[in-house]
Amino acid sequence: MPAVKTEVMDVIVVGGGPAGSACAHFLERGGARVAVVDRAEFPRVKLCGGWLSAPIWDALALAPGDYPGRLWEWNTCHVAYRGETRSIACRGWFIRRYELDDFLLRRSGAELHLGVQVPDITRDDDGLWSIAGLRARFLVGAGGTHCPVARLGAPPRPQGPVGVQEHEFPADPAAVARARAGGDGEPELLLHDDLRGYSWNVPKTDWLNVGSGTVEPGEVRAAWQQARAHFLAAGHVPSDAAPELEPKAMKGYAYYLFDPAHLDGAAAIDGDGRGGRLLVGDSLGLAQPLTAEGILPAVVSGRVCAEVILAGEPARYPERLAAHPLIGEYRRVFRLREAAAAWRAAPAGRVQADASSPPDASPPPDAPAPSAAPSRLGRLGRRAIATGFAWMFSGARLPAPPIVDLALSGAERWLGRRSAPKTPAPRAAI
Ligand SMILES: Cc1cc2nc3c(=O)[nH]c(=O)nc-3n(C[C@H](O)[C@H](O)[C@H](O)COP(=O)(O)OP(=O)(O)OC[C@H]3O[C@@H](n4cnc5c(N)ncnc54)[C@H](O)[C@@H]3O)c2cc1C
Repeated sequence: MPAVKTEVMDVIVVGGGPAGSACAHFLERGGARVAVVDRAEFPRVKLCGGWLSAPIWDALALAPGDYPGRLWEWNTCHVAYRGETRSIACRGWFIRRYELDDFLLRRSGAELHLGVQVPDITRDDDGLWSIAGLRARFLVGAGGTHCPVARLGAPPRPQGPVGVQEHEFPADPAAVARARAGGDGEPELLLHDDLRGYSWNVPKTDWLNVGSGTVEPGEVRAAWQQARAHFLAAGHVPSDAAPELEPKAMKGYAYYLFDPAHLDGAAAIDGDGRGGRLLVGDSLGLAQPLTAEGILPAVVSGRVCAEVILAGEPARYPERLAAHPLIGEYRRVFRLREAAAAWRAAPAGRVQADASSPPDASPPPDAPAPSAAPSRLGRLGRRAIATGFAWMFSGARLPAPPIVDLALSGAERWLGRRSAPKTPAPRAAI
């Protein structure tokens, strides 16, 4: 039988979303030969709110003005929490994923193999990965939550994924303008009372994007029912859009928030460093631990992955990713979230069900009924939560990292002494 001719590349990237296209782009820029394989034809529909926080442009090495797709810049975020709505000054952007992903993938300059589902992946006797007639020493998994490259190993998953659903649909621009909470492109966020998730309503001129995310994927449909009632009652969606807001129109999937343990599964590199596989974006589980923002960490990890391969140091990928300022910030936010949850779960550390401090679900059964009017402290707490969330949504970092780290270490020691829970503490929120 004649030998089948296959092309040898430097790197094959499985998945052409933001993680895969960023990795391919920076590899190509560094002179590598890259093929991206994706089961979808691009442009493709990607379920997403389309929100970008400020650091994305540096990560992409792209100026907002050079992005050819539709772009909504916002400077105010409207946050509703426990019956109070605040308009908070902060900055970010919205795009349509249908346009962004296609632009980024084609900008990468990589050889594209679209409409190709990657089933099982094999490695030949020469140590080359072999996919769809392509061969390469390095394989990058950028195929999202169920990435086939991730399935080759068993990436650590100490906690379950979050559930997120959305619907983006065309709408009459005049009706959207009349109904929306603020200016065009300004997000309206509804923080769920128990802070185990949030919902959004984003006017994009002649499109509306609505959705919900919850810590437990099983809770997302009920959360959307409540959010839908809230947005309709507030009159912030055009009344004739009601059929588009039906739960059956909402679609989504589950993906993993950042956990430091995930980095242990970031790479499996050959002893001689000349080949191996690496994971980027959702396939590794890198979304922001509170807001569930996924595009930014996908791009950052894709870029770091490209840099270590180009530098001939692929085995240093987990270490380099861990040292990236964004991942350092996520680790801090993760620790804060865990400390808050542990504090709530500690037997003597329970707080009463005041709005200022409810990072997990319902009040304990012995808690007194909340008074009708929130205390001054309660109002301050709600304001802090709404403002903090809006800032995080715009990509602002926690202030004074060394002091936060010190405070966290102290809190973790104190919590460790105070309680030794037999079951893991519940996660706080997204
Ligand atoms: C409803 C919803 C709303 C969201 N909203 C936001 C938001 O507003 N802002 C934000 O930052 N994040 C948001 N996220 C998260 C964000 O979409 C993801 O974190 C981000 O897309 C991850 O990028 P990625 O490149 O790792 O994976 P993806 O964007 O999922 O890309 C993976 C690619 O791999 C391809 N693929 C998968 N399997 C195979 C296979 N076997 N063979 C070939 N190709 C394959 C897919 O076709 C896809 O193109 C949202 C998520 C959901 C579910």
